[in-house]
Amino acid sequence: MQTGAGQNTGKGRYTVKVIRDKCIGAASCVAIAPLTFKLDDENKAIVLAQKLDSDEDLLLAAQSCPTAAIIVTDDETGEQIWPK
Ligand code: SF4
Repeated sequence: MQTGAGQNTGKGRYTVKVIRDKCIGAASCVAIAPLTFKLDDENKAIVLAQKLDSDEDLLLAAQSCPTAAIIVTDDETGEQIWPK
């Protein structure tokens, strides 16, 4: 049986959103969660899809953003997980 980080890949409960005006195109989110984030032709991050990267990676991606442009919410509780 598998245990540990990443076991919830694809079955996450976090939803992410990018605040476009805050994004400076640093792309660390893309490096950490490449199935979720992509830079568009204006060098701003867009959300490609939800629930493909693990919740852990989504949170890490949001925390890596230098301008806190990524909002993470918990589907089940409606709570904003990041930024706090
Ligand atoms: S890490 Fe933040 S600033 Fe960088 S591309 Fe992603 S959302 Fe934009």
